[in-house]
Amino acid sequence: MSRISLQKVYKSFQKNLYVISDFDLEIFNDEFLVIVGPSGSGKTTTLRMIAGLEELSDGKLYIDDHLQNDEDPSTRHLSFVFQNYALLPHLTIYENIAFGLLNLKLSELERRKKVEDIARKLSLLEKLGSYPNQLSGGQRQRVALARALVDQEKLILFDEPLSNLDALLRSEMRSELLKLQRMFQTTCVYVTHDQVEAMAMASRIVLMMEGKIVQVGTPYQMYHDPAHLDTSLFIGLPEANLITVTIKDQRIYVDDQEIALNDETKLLIQKNQLSKALITIRPKALRVHHQFKDILTKGKLVAVENFGVSKLLHIEAFNQTFRAEVDQDFIEQDDLYLDFTGETYLFNEDKKRIRENQFQELIFEALPVLVEELQVIRELINYGYHISYDDKKANVLYNKKNHTYQLKMNEKIYDLKNLQDILNILSYRK
Ligand code: ADP
Ligand code: MG
Repeated sequence: MSRISLQKVYKSFQKNLYVISDFDLEIFNDEFLVIVGPSGSGKTTTLRMIAGLEELSDGKLYIDDHLQNDEDPSTRHLSFVFQNYALLPHLTIYENIAFGLLNLKLSELERRKKVEDIARKLSLLEKLGSYPNQLSGGQRQRVALARALVDQEKLILFDEPLSNLDALLRSEMRSELLKLQRMFQTTCVYVTHDQVEAMAMASRIVLMMEGKIVQVGTPYQMYHDPAHLDTSLFIGLPEANLITVTIKDQRIYVDDQEIALNDETKLLIQKNQLSKALITIRPKALRVHHQFKDILTKGKLVAVENFGVSKLLHIEAFNQTFRAEVDQDFIEQDDLYLDFTGETYLFNEDKKRIRENQFQELIFEALPVLVEELQVIRELINYGYHISYDDKKANVLYNKKNHTYQLKMNEKIYDLKNLQDILNILSYRK
C-alpha cells in the first residue's frame, strides 16, 4: 500500500560519472513492479535509493506524496529482502523472523502470534526452533521472506532474492512469492537480471540498461510491442535474431544479398523512407524449409538444441548465425532455407521502433484530481505522451456517473475501470 514517484533522478558515486540518469518512474499502490536489466545496469542502486540506503545526487523521490530526499530511512516503512538472505546465524528461526518486528512495540503474546502466522503461511512452523545453518537454501530464503513480511510493511523491496537457489526451487519460490503478494496486498519492487523471472512475476516491467530506463510496460507489451531494439533483444527466450538491412530502390539487402520481408514491414520502410534499418525476428517466427523457393535464403545448419516439444536450429546465413525454433519432428539436413517473411519488428538506426499509427497525444476533458490519477498522468508523460486538456477535443473522457474513463483512439473505444488501465493499452514510446 505505497505509492512511489521517482522524478528526474540521477546518481553518481564519482564526479560526473552517472550510474543512474534521467530516471522517471511512477510505482502504483500494490503493484508488483519488476526492474530487470543486465548486471551493472543500476538496479541495486535504484532500489537502495528508494530504501534510503543511498542518497540521490539529483532529482526527487516521493513515497506516498511525501518528499523523502532528506528523510531518515527509518521513516519509510519498508522492508528489504537481499540475495544472500542476511540471516543472523546465532539466532533461531523464530528470533530471526521476530527481528522484523523490532520497530513495533508488541507484547510477547502479540509477537508470537505474528511470527507463527507468517511461519505457517510459509511452511516454516516446524523450523522455528532451528538455526539457519540447519536449513536448506530454499528454507533460508523463506525465513528472509517471513522476516520481511511479518510486520506487514507497506512496501517490500527485493534484490535478486532467488538468484542463489537452484532452478526448481526458484520456480517454486516464484509462485510462492506471487501468492503471498496477493494475500498481503503490498507494493513490491523486485529486481532481477533474469527476464524469465520478470515476465513470470511482474504486473509491470522496467527494463534498465546503463542506468537508464529503456522501456516500461506489462509483460505482454514488452514481448509483443517492444518500443526499443534492446527490449526486443532482452525480453523473450530464446533471444530474437537481429539483422541490419540497407534499402536501395525499394529493394532490401543484408550485406549485398537481397532479403524478402513481409509486406507490412516493406510498407513501413517505404513510408518512413528508411535507407538503413534494424530488424528483429523471433526464433519462432523464422521459418525453415527443406527446398529452395525464390523468397528463401540459403543457410547451413551448424548446431541443434533439443527442448523436448521443440528444437532450436542454429543456421548460418548472411555471414551470421540465426536461431530458428521448429517442431521436434523437423528433419535436419545440412542445407536449409530461411523464410524471413514472418512477424518482425522494425527499428531505425537509433534503435527506436518504427510502427504503424504512432499515437502521441492524449487530450483529457479536464485534469484528473485523485492522487492516483495524477500519478498515471506523470507516468504517461514518462512514457513520452503529450498530455493536454480540452473538453471539446478530448479523447480521454470521464464518466461521472460510474467514475470510469473511456479512451477513443484510432476509431477504437476502450472502457477503463480506472485510469491506470490506460497504461495497459498504451505503450511506452519515449
Ligand atoms: P546492478 O544491480 O544492476 O547490477 P548496480 O546498481 O549494483 O547494478 O551498479 C550500477 C553501477 O554503479 C555499476 O557500474 C557499479 O560498479 C556502480 N556502483 C554501485 N555501487 C557503487 C559504489 N558504492 N561506489 C562506486 N560505484 C558503484
Ligand atoms: Mg544488483
